[in-house]
Amino acid sequence: MPSLPTPRIAIIGSGPAGCYLAQSLVRSLPGCELTLFDRLPSPFGLIRYGIAADHQHTKAITRQFERLFAAPNVRFAGDVAIDTDGVIGADVTLAELQEHFDAVVFATGLSADRALTVPGGTLPGVVGAGALTRVLNAHPDTAAALPELGADVVIVGAGNVALDVLRFLVKDKEGYAQSDVADTALAPYLADPAQRITILSRSDVAHAKGDPQMFKELAGLERGRYTTDAAALTLPEGADRTTTARVAAVAELTAPDRPAHPGPNVTLHFGAVPVRFEGTDRVTGVTVELGGVTRLIPATAVITAIGFDGLASNGDAANLSALPAASPTGRIRPGVYRTGWAKRGPNGAIPENRACAKSVAEEIVADLSDGTLATDPGKFGFGGLPARVQDRAISFAQWQVLDAHECATARPGRVRTKLPDHTQMAAIARGAALPQAQA
Ligand SMILES: Cc1cc2nc3c(=O)[nH]c(=O)nc-3n(C[C@H](O)[C@H](O)[C@H](O)COP(=O)(O)OP(=O)(O)OC[C@H]3O[C@@H](n4cnc5c(N)ncnc54)[C@H](O)[C@@H]3O)c2cc1C
Repeated sequence: MPSLPTPRIAIIGSGPAGCYLAQSLVRSLPGCELTLFDRLPSPFGLIRYGIAADHQHTKAITRQFERLFAAPNVRFAGDVAIDTDGVIGADVTLAELQEHFDAVVFATGLSADRALTVPGGTLPGVVGAGALTRVLNAHPDTAAALPELGADVVIVGAGNVALDVLRFLVKDKEGYAQSDVADTALAPYLADPAQRITILSRSDVAHAKGDPQMFKELAGLERGRYTTDAAALTLPEGADRTTTARVAAVAELTAPDRPAHPGPNVTLHFGAVPVRFEGTDRVTGVTVELGGVTRLIPATAVITAIGFDGLASNGDAANLSALPAASPTGRIRPGVYRTGWAKRGPNGAIPENRACAKSVAEEIVADLSDGTLATDPGKFGFGGLPARVQDRAISFAQWQVLDAHECATARPGRVRTKLPDHTQMAAIARGAALPQAQA
């Protein structure tokens, strides 16, 4: 088989999807030149800013990706926003990238909380789970302060992100040992934690999205007292292994003989449909249909955890938001591809992005093989971009300076203290010293 041309490829986004794609391309096109752009000064997307701070074992996947960036043909270009949707102050347009790279791949994820379209859905006190987890993860786009939650918190959804939020609400200080939680958000919450928490799952236990392991983890914590409707624990006939394990985990969590640990009272409602959020100036409750009966559940805050969306588009028909949500193919048109959540929609855990990226890499290789995608010796990749972009881009070595700074300044009991300010992150990465008081 004749050797394949070695393209210069721009990957927009350095989350799991971008990193897995780069891994696949390095293997199948050893001579290719890859640049992973990210609008943030730090790589790794939701690994850093979505995955819960007390799940450091999951975040450890970054060790694998660090090895990727050690390859001479893989470059990180942080703090460079590509204009995909026109909603972010961009540094480079898609057209500019295409001028200098043989192919461009969107691995931009989907980071906005999906809104629950019920009356009252936009009342103050209704908070998206993504927004909340970004605060806890010190995301530079988010205000540092945790939204006011109060004593009665309702969580809409029972997927893994909802269960991450529940775990946060239930845990005490000790639960954050060796985490990288933003203490500026955690401390005010622990000073005035939720007393009563209600989970509203539209699905029954059999079809709830949360992994059995996530319910088991809650059961293993010596915190909180849990109840659920007895009918929720009926195992449907012919239930598969995951369903059986989930029902068993919820039964363990809500068992009447589970010791009465300190912490909030948690009620899990399955088959519950929120009809309306009550309140005038702020949410005060959720009207819900449950087992054919309409009930009002008091709420000082409602956290919606029903999935994610793209950021609102500026209406430019060429942008990514204008494309169909999930697509079986990564090719948008020859030379322009997408992978990860930007391709499949906001579904699936980190490992699923690996298989997705592999299939997109195969599409790119196939396009090169049959000439659909041509390489152009007149394109110089990152080296062809204007000096203002090249000078701005934070390299992987510069990110490692920021990484080392965050680890070195970790407070007692923390593995790192993330800087929550974009400008400051970029300055530290570029070698600036922090004023003593902030270091
Ligand atoms: C709250 C939350 C918790 C989660 N917890 C877990 C978990 O515990 N375990 C698990 O396996 N999975 C978890 N997931 C799922 C996992 O995070 C996703 O499967 C994965 O991150 C999707 O990868 P991605 O690369 O497509 O998107 P992302 O991780 O979102 O990465 C996209 C990257 O693109 C960058 N970007 C976006 N737009 C631009 C632009 N215009 N220019 C330049 N850069 C841009 C972003 O800054 C970001 O770095 C969680 C998800 C969420 C939301």
